[in-house]
Parts: sequence; structure tokens; C-alpha cells
Amino acid sequence: MKVMKFGGTSVGSVNSILSVKEIVEAVKEPVIVVVSALGGITDKLISTSLMASKGDKNYEKEYAYIVGLHISMIDEIIKDKEVKDDLLVKINTLLSELRDIYQGIYLIRDLSPKTSDTIVSYGERLSSLIVTSLIDQAVLFDSRVFIKTENKHSKHILDSELTNKLVKNTFLELPKVSVVPGFIATDKKSGEITNLGRGGSDYTASIIAAALNADSLEIWTDVDGFMTADPKVISTAYTINELSYVEAMELCNFGAKVVYPPTIYPVFHKNIPVLIKNTFNPKGNGTIIKSQINDQNKAIKGISSINNTSLITVTGLGMVGVIGVNYRIFKTLAQNGISVFLVSQASSENSTSIGVRNEDAALACMVLNQEFAKEIEMGEISLLMQR
Ligand code: ASP
Ligand code: MG
Repeated sequence: MKVMKFGGTSVGSVNSILSVKEIVEAVKEPVIVVVSALGGITDKLISTSLMASKGDKNYEKEYAYIVGLHISMIDEIIKDKEVKDDLLVKINTLLSELRDIYQGIYLIRDLSPKTSDTIVSYGERLSSLIVTSLIDQAVLFDSRVFIKTENKHSKHILDSELTNKLVKNTFLELPKVSVVPGFIATDKKSGEITNLGRGGSDYTASIIAAALNADSLEIWTDVDGFMTADPKVISTAYTINELSYVEAMELCNFGAKVVYPPTIYPVFHKNIPVLIKNTFNPKGNGTIIKSQINDQNKAIKGISSINNTSLITVTGLGMVGVIGVNYRIFKTLAQNGISVFLVSQASSENSTSIGVRNEDAALACMVLNQEFAKEIEMGEISLLMQR
């Protein structure tokens, strides 16, 4: 069996969603189809909730846009009257729940993270219903039942052990086509709706592929695959045919927006090949990610870049030869849930630089200042931040 994930643009227009139908129905083996929200809907769901929370009545127009987009899509693609009526009942139930939530936010002018997580879940819940009605013989499975997260440092982190078990139990028998909403999950303790982070549908697909030992994972998107560089920056960039898991992970983490970075890990672990394909150019080769690759002779596969980062340097003679300074830096950051994506230390040991995301930089500086307060006061260590 294989897992195929279709992103927002793939399910975002009449033509593309009809290609999705064609692509999936042509598959001979059992397939699990993971879908994103219709293109742009997750952003819309969020911006509309922000408007409502600020008391901006125009949120109603935005809500009407969300309704219109889904209903007109259904009108265009579902021709069978019975199937359509049945689908519309389910869609309208979700849409009216959503309207009530927005109204609640508008009335009390409050938007908690929990409410926000509930709101964004509607994107994938709606799109997965539509795709299930569209594809022949498709059966819908609710990922909130088997993708479980736990709360760590106020982030939702996947509980992989529990999730693997639940995924295996859910798919003991595989229908020809299973449809699964990507991105969404529930908290393992409270049962509240959570998600795997923006772009997380790729991750949902990878988690399922790994748990079920799929033959392959296909990520269907709107580009031909990984490129040698950002085509918006370098016009001669071209598609890379093959990448190792490690190379793909590097490119994901450093700016290539093709795949959500955590996606590679579960399938890498199980040695399941990942194929990146373009819904708008299904005949293209795409990029294959696997462990054994043929064109090893190219030293540089691609160039990528990232913005939105800060460099924090802990420096001073008070560090030279002192055991445990790095331990204290990383312990402090880890205890505060801050992830470090780059580390460099001078061989003289008088400075350690770490790269963190901009949104983590202020907290990182604050907790490091606390940790090294004594040394800083004595002038032995100082802290520097660059954006
Ligand atoms: N719909 C979610 C997002 O836009 C998840 C995804 O598309 O992968 O972030
Ligand atoms: Mg994506």
C-alpha cells in the first residue's frame, strides 16, 4: 500500500481537485490519501478569527467567503445529486458550528490558543469530506482519533508511540481508498483538538506511512520537486531527481518549502522512499528521497537560505577551559523549550554561538542572562545577539 498526500493548492481549484481524483483512482493498490485544507483556507480561518476577536464585524464577510469557496467547489465537482445532498448536510453542519464559534469570539472578544486550534481544524475536516465524496469508493477516517499529541513547553508534540499503535489498529483492514484529514490531531489527555503545526499535513502522511510500513510515501504539491535553489532567487534553478534522507532534511530545514521538516524523520526510520510529485504536472519525474542514491558524485546538491533567525553568542575569558559552560547553555535552552538549529564554538573555547528562530531569541537571551548572571556581573562572560 502507499500513502499519498495532496497539499492545499492540489485540492484548491476545480481542475486540480479533479486531477487528484484521476491520480488516485488510477492507483491499483490500496491507498491512503491525506489532504490539506483547500488552498489558502487555513490562513483565512486564522485571519477571520483575529478580526472577530478584535470586534471587527467584517469577520462575517470573511466567513461568508469561506462558506462560498467550499459550496461552489462542491457545486462544480460533485454531480451525483444523492452524493451531493449527503455531503452538503455534513458540510453545512461543520460550517454552522464554525459560524457559532466565530460569533462567540466576536461577542467575548477573546481568542485562546485552544479556540484557535479548534478553528483551524475545520479546514481539513471540510476538505477531507469533499475529497471522500469525490473519489470512487473512498472511506473517510478521522485523524483526531489516531493522531495524538501531548503538551510540552506549550507546544503540541506528537506522541509517536501511542499514535503508531492507534494508526495500526485503525487500518487493520484497508479499503481501496482511505481519506484522512492532514494536520489535525487531539491531545492525548484532554481529547481537545490540536494540530501538528503549519504545513503539518505532510507530517500526518509520513506518520501513517511509517506506522503501516507503506511501500512509499508520495507528497503531491504544486512544484516539480526539490530544486537546486529558490527559483524566485536563481532563475536557472532546476529539479533535483534524487536526494538522500539526510540531504532532504538539510534542505527542508534550510528554507526549501517543499516539505514540512519533521516529515522526513518517520519514513527515514523505516527506509520508506518519498516521492515528491507535482499535481499540475503529473508526468514529471519529481524528486525521490531514499537511502541509496545514484548520483553521489555531485558534491553540492542544492543551495538554500533561511531568514527569521538570530545568532546568540556567549563569550568571555570566564569560559576558557571551564567545564560545563556549554552544558549550562543547552540545559537552560532545553528547559525553556527553545530549539537550536546551529552551533559553533571557537577552539579557544572563549565563545559559543547558537542559532535560534527570531521568535525564540528574546526568551533565549533572558534565560541565558539569568543562568550566567553571576559571571556576567563579574565581567567574565557576556552575551551578544545578532539578527
Ligand atoms: N492546512 C495546514 C496549513 O496550511 C496544514 C497543511 O496544509 O499542511 O498549514
Ligand atoms: Mg505544505
